[in-house]
Amino acid sequence: MNACEQLSDLLSGYLDEELTQGDYQKVDVHLRDCPACQKTIDEMRLFRNAVASSQKPEKLADGQWEKIVNDLPGKASAGTGWVFLIAGVLTLAGLGIWEFAVADDILIGVKIGVGAVGFGVLLLFVSVLRQRLISWRTDKYKDVKY
Ligand SMILES: [Zn+2]
Repeated sequence: MNACEQLSDLLSGYLDEELTQGDYQKVDVHLRDCPACQKTIDEMRLFRNAVASSQKPEKLADGQWEKIVNDLPGKASAGTGWVFLIAGVLTLAGLGIWEFAVADDILIGVKIGVGAVGFGVLLLFVSVLRQRLISWRTDKYKDVKY
């Protein structure tokens, strides 16, 4: 039995820091000179980290899941609210502009003036909306990072 085989049983204890001082030092000294065991322990560590991070959602359980889940309907309804608001405003604006443009009893100068104001308001609305969408998307990414 070579040194590597003797130590292989100690490696997982070494990772878990469950070894006695003597065993720990034995592994430590051996690891310094043995690339093969270094590789083994690196792989074990990677595997453990992968397992640990795959279990993370369950570890969130104490209140955190509740918070995330409670937060979702708020985000979703806010999104739906914006969709309805945009659809409504665009419909009203479109109808209003059309009604206004086809009305015979309004001076062309007034039409152009009011049209310009309306167009300005619409542009402002679109720019506010754009900001809102950008921050909404950034919020979503923030949530994903959990
Ligand atoms: Zn070794």
